[in-house]
This record gives sequence, structure tokens and C-alpha cells, in this order.
Amino acid sequence: MTTPIEKVLPHLTRVKRTAPGKWIACCPAHEDKSPSLSIREMDDGRLLLHCFGGCAVEEVIGAVGVDMTALFPERPSTPGAGAKPQPLQRLPASQAIEILESETMVVAVIGGDMVRKKVINEIDHRRLIQAVSRVQFIAQEAKR
Ligand SMILES: [Zn+2]
Repeated sequence: MTTPIEKVLPHLTRVKRTAPGKWIACCPAHEDKSPSLSIREMDDGRLLLHCFGGCAVEEVIGAVGVDMTALFPERPSTPGAGAKPQPLQRLPASQAIEILESETMVVAVIGGDMVRKKVINEIDHRRLIQAVSRVQFIAQEAKR
């Protein structure tokens, strides 16, 4: 397993270690006379690059000849280890019904106001539209 630091440092010039986990080097992305690229290894193995000349990380990485993934530690390939993408959470039915209940209440209240005042103000109208979109969201969730 190659660490990010092992992937990046050999491609840089005038590398100097300034502190544990910290280096400076000449930035490969611009004409760098004095080292202006700071390199920092985080506790989790991630590499932070910062060019004081103003180059973007992508530019520095591109000039080094590696891609952005080189800045991140390799994930262990053993099953069960490392972060796995979480499956999409479904909205629990009880929560969906609760939302439907409160949204229909909103519609009822605003509807009552409309009858009494014969007008609807913008805020109430927006709230009605929100109620509709929430109900539609639940309908979509239910169809998944
Ligand atoms: Zn630079």
C-alpha cells in the first residue's frame, strides 16, 4: 500500500521537511523560485497541499502527474472494513403519515383563512405550495 506522501513527494523538487508530517517544496504548477508549496499529512493519511503562489490543488496535482485520489489513503480491500456507501434511507411510514397529517392541517387552516378574508397572502400561498410538494414527496417515497 503506497501512502499519499509516497505518491506525491518523489515528484516534487527541493522538498524539505519542516515539522513532523509537514513539508515544503517547489510548486510544480507555476514557476516557483523559492518553495511555496506546503504539504501536510493529516492523521488519517490524507494529504493537504497548498500553494502560496495561488495554484489550485487540481493544478498542482496535474503538474505532479497523479490524480486527486493520490491525496487520499488507499482503502483496505478486506470486506467489512472501510467506509461503505449507505443504502438510501426510506422514510418510515409512521413519519410519512405524520407529515401528511400536519400538511393537511396546514391546508385546512389556510383554506379557512381564505374563506374568511376572501384573499390569500403570499406567505400563505407559499406555505400551501410547500404542503403540496411535501405530499408529493411522500407519494414518491411510497412508490419507490
Ligand atoms: Zn503554485
